[in-house]
Amino acid sequence: MYLVGKINVISALPEEFKRLNDIAYNLWWSWNPEAIDLYREIDLDLWKKLNRNPVRFLQEVSQKKLQSKLNDADFMKRLENVVNTFDNYMSEKNTWFNKTYPQNTDKMIAYFSAEYGLNEVLPIYSGGLGVLSGDHCKAASDLGLPFTAIGLFYKQGYFSQRINSDGWQQTCFNDLNVSQLPILPALNQNGEQVQISITFAGRTVYAQVWKVQIGRINLYLMDTDVPQNSNNDRSLTARLYGGDQETRIQQEIFLGIGGIRVLDALGINATVYHMNEGHSAFMGLELIRKLVNEKHISFSEAKKIVENSSIFTTHTPVPAGNDVFPLYMMDKYFGDFWGQLGLSRYDFLELGLKKSEDQNFNMTVLALTLAGRKNGVSELHGAVSRDIFSDVWPGVPKNDIPITHVTNGIHTLTWISPKIKALYDKYLGSDWTSKIYESSTFEGIDNIPDEELWEIHKELKLKLINFVRAKLKQQKLANGESMEAVRQVDNFLDPNALTIGFARRFATYKRANLIFRNLARIQKILNNPEKPMQIIFAGKAHPADGPAHDVIKNINDIAKQEGFYGKVILLENYNMTVARNLVQGVDVWMNNPRRPLEASGTSGQKVCINGIINFSILDGWWCEGYDGENGWVIGDETEFDNEYSQDNIDSESIYDTLESKIVPLFYNVNEKGIPTEWVRMMKNSIKSLTWNYSTDRMVKEYTERMYLPAINGTEMVCADNYSLAKQLSAFEQHMKANWHQVQLFSEKFMNNLKDYKSDSGHEIHLTAYAKLGIIDPSDVMVEVYYGSLCNGMIINAQSIEMKLDGKTEDGSYKYSLDLKIEDGGEYAYTFRATPKNPNLINRFDTGLIRWVE
Ligand SMILES: *Cc1c(COP(=O)(O)O)cnc(C)c1O
Repeated sequence: MYLVGKINVISALPEEFKRLNDIAYNLWWSWNPEAIDLYREIDLDLWKKLNRNPVRFLQEVSQKKLQSKLNDADFMKRLENVVNTFDNYMSEKNTWFNKTYPQNTDKMIAYFSAEYGLNEVLPIYSGGLGVLSGDHCKAASDLGLPFTAIGLFYKQGYFSQRINSDGWQQTCFNDLNVSQLPILPALNQNGEQVQISITFAGRTVYAQVWKVQIGRINLYLMDTDVPQNSNNDRSLTARLYGGDQETRIQQEIFLGIGGIRVLDALGINATVYHMNEGHSAFMGLELIRKLVNEKHISFSEAKKIVENSSIFTTHTPVPAGNDVFPLYMMDKYFGDFWGQLGLSRYDFLELGLKKSEDQNFNMTVLALTLAGRKNGVSELHGAVSRDIFSDVWPGVPKNDIPITHVTNGIHTLTWISPKIKALYDKYLGSDWTSKIYESSTFEGIDNIPDEELWEIHKELKLKLINFVRAKLKQQKLANGESMEAVRQVDNFLDPNALTIGFARRFATYKRANLIFRNLARIQKILNNPEKPMQIIFAGKAHPADGPAHDVIKNINDIAKQEGFYGKVILLENYNMTVARNLVQGVDVWMNNPRRPLEASGTSGQKVCINGIINFSILDGWWCEGYDGENGWVIGDETEFDNEYSQDNIDSESIYDTLESKIVPLFYNVNEKGIPTEWVRMMKNSIKSLTWNYSTDRMVKEYTERMYLPAINGTEMVCADNYSLAKQLSAFEQHMKANWHQVQLFSEKFMNNLKDYKSDSGHEIHLTAYAKLGIIDPSDVMVEVYYGSLCNGMIINAQSIEMKLDGKTEDGSYKYSLDLKIEDGGEYAYTFRATPKNPNLINRFDTGLIRWVE
């Protein structure tokens, strides 16, 4: 048939339902099930068919269905309640931030991330990093932070995954239709859609800007698909992590430099800038460029301001995971840029070079260099980061490297099952959601009767199994399998069997098929006639990661074998909808990455709130979260050089723990059929983990430890026409120029080395001597650095500042300290000098340190 034209009819909404449209355009609905229920009730089939997208739903819902709801008094009452709740939320003045920091409510925090996982409707995320950014924004809204988020609009999103009947992953990209998404044009004061442009590599590229409303905050997304651009440039932002390195550097130029221009175009005056991962690190360069150009200050003065205003969160636990660009590419895209900063090519490139490697410009190094406050995403990952980036701070001991950690969390209300939420409303008091970050909020968990919690858990498990079966049928139909094969799916998964969930990106370090290392042994565990077990897998492999595709294929093959069929399930297209069902419905959440490669991991945090128990490697967040009573561990804290033996030992640990602990506990039921000891562990998990691994705790911690110091620091260095920034810059330049004159001596060179013997608790008098050249002693901190002696090294080191004790005849300064050590043992000490200035964020960032030679 020849189609002459297309007509797009948008359903007319009765006046009474207009507010449903306002709510559809604010992702607030995504964590408020009462709102979602309204759309579901109007037409459940359509809701599901349109992939739970309220904007599209309201465009396509039939007039008849709408009219019938108008006469449903109960529905209209609930609609009114939802609208009131929404309006109250939006206009609430008494938020945590406003109450705690009333003087800072006008200090905008701008958050930059390459991906945002807010809801399945908006597939502009690939995995954990994106979901974390999305959850961060939602918590920032809930806590009332002055907060704006910046990202890119990937018109084709991240790929959706199909797994064909041979077990190979197929990727497919679809164009998203903006008019059917909860996205609006971002308008300027004149009511026009904001556009920005960037000139690089000899051309100007334009982007239009969209707005996504997330509760009280906005996310602005850049999109280069505009008519002014060439065809190539129009597709620049089409795909997340698609394309080659050229695409990537251009996307990152947009994210960082473009992001700052978006804020300007919208008239948003930010005080603090948070780079979530290194992708956005060019942002700091643009901030400096603006300061240099507009305020006529020098690069190093501007850098002092940017250090104070910027926060950098690294997520990468392996050096190879960092974004790097070859230097010729930097020349191509930044050849016109460094001059505007007043820098030479050499000085510019040095901002992103690792000392041990000068081939590539490293985005993580750039971010570490520009941001004054830096963190990893779990305690262990903080330590790993201090290790892998140690050569950014030559001569600085690992423990002093200025990278701290803020452990990740999840947005509780996004991941909690509505049924569990209702249970908490009943037993924790209806305002428990306003204090998720406090452990005391969850003390009442013990008041929930075991039967009640267990009943709801069973319901959720059944719901999951039905969800999985329906998806599997679609999967099999799409693969052209026989009707018989499709029908068999109804017998897959036993609602009474112990059910393990394993879902995450199929990166090879996550070892999805580790549990199949000894097939005979796991087959026996799965098929225990009295105590059966089953496993549900899901995950996408990065399209370019060949070995990860093999893992999918391997699991798919095993799932077809006798003894695994119907018990090992591989679900395709892991996304937030699949994730939500899994983290609410399985019994145990398993995670077995190769330690320490999981920076944090967050899916295990999503299950706690739903009473599901973690079974994980002591890596990332679980290393902190596990307390012996709230889940199980795989292996121990040993790290192996040999992957083969590590895999053997960890898989043995999985089998042993399943056989001796997990399976018996699950099937140990009382006369009412309730596994009371298991339920006790569920409650322990909820009580001990939920509050701490929430984004409410996390964003509160970012606020207290990062954002507020950044606000205060920035105000301080900018006051009086940047006088402190100028002073600090002069101080640093003076120190850098003259630091070579600093020399430290111990008594060893002055007298003879003393081998002290001392009784515990007695003081030892230590003396050091320093030559400082023209540097004033008030600008230098001399410390004793001491700790236990182990293999000729100092471990568990501490440092104490020494007192200036006069001057010797040859012009050296004398420093002394009475050191007292309580515990017996063998200790060693040495001395070091660093610049001293109370207004430095961190003295080690100056790169200047002198040890006794
Ligand atoms: C939470 C989540 C992740 C992150 O899972 P990890 O356990 O951190 O690997 C990835 N993808 C989706 C869809 C998620 O919801």
